[in-house]
Amino acid sequence: MKLPMDHYRVKPDSKVDLCKIPSQDDGGVDKIKGKAQFRKLRRNLATLQEALYAQHKHALLVVFQAMDTGGKDSTIRSVFTGVNPAGISVTSFKAPSTEERDHDYLWRIHDHAPPTGMIHVFNRSHYEDVLVVRVKNLVPAQRWKRRYEHINAFEKILHDEGTMIVKFYLHISKDYQKERLQRRLDRPDKHWKFNPDDLAERARWAEYQAAYDAALSHCSTKHAPWYIIPAERRWYRDLLIASVLVDTLTSLKMNYPQPTFDPATIAIE
Ligand code: AMP
Ligand code: MG
Repeated sequence: MKLPMDHYRVKPDSKVDLCKIPSQDDGGVDKIKGKAQFRKLRRNLATLQEALYAQHKHALLVVFQAMDTGGKDSTIRSVFTGVNPAGISVTSFKAPSTEERDHDYLWRIHDHAPPTGMIHVFNRSHYEDVLVVRVKNLVPAQRWKRRYEHINAFEKILHDEGTMIVKFYLHISKDYQKERLQRRLDRPDKHWKFNPDDLAERARWAEYQAAYDAALSHCSTKHAPWYIIPAERRWYRDLLIASVLVDTLTSLKMNYPQPTFDPATIAIE
């Protein structure tokens, strides 16, 4: 099954308008077939992660951004199940601490960039510094406006030094968010996920979407592309993401390193 990944990749310097992009799209893929394909890709991902680790030449950074209830946590759980936990790390970026705020905004981020051989996943990221920071006026506009350029330069450094970068925006509608928030209220086992403060963020939906439009428009580059993933059909969301990850790692054409000994000459008593 060939998925139209180009369709979801944001072309560099294009103008994104999330309002016009469907969030329920399933690409016309049959759900049963789509799920089977996903399980296959997930097995490929586990093998590719092992090769990444063994080859020890590259790293992979995977960034997830979404509105609240967009499904970042469940995507990470579902896509990376099966990958060796020793080769992967997930960082969830929260509001910065006092110490973090006293540094430049990329300081805490750089520390979590993946070392060679590893896959690092960002659940939220440096993009919050042009999203929530912009919407809530946490720094003056002249400061956040410069950040798109910094972010592109930062990601270029990581890329030039051997890190592959892919970024996913999980796209949902305001109505879908309402359903998901209601579910958190209705189900006692989901109450812990409900944060009354999220309602204040929801009230600023249009401002957040505008901030996302800008970030996705300015910061999708050849070396660190953004993908806008329709995220309301969760099986299709997972399928698209697994497919991008497998394609990205496959493009490295990895081989296992050659042994420094001749296995045929070694006898184990
Ligand atoms: P959650 O992902 O639901 O646990 O929430 C994390 C919270 O941290 C969200 O409300 C984010 O907007 C907030 N956050 C993450 N990064 C930043 C940042 N750089 N500045 C301000 N708030 C942030
Ligand atoms: Mg939250």
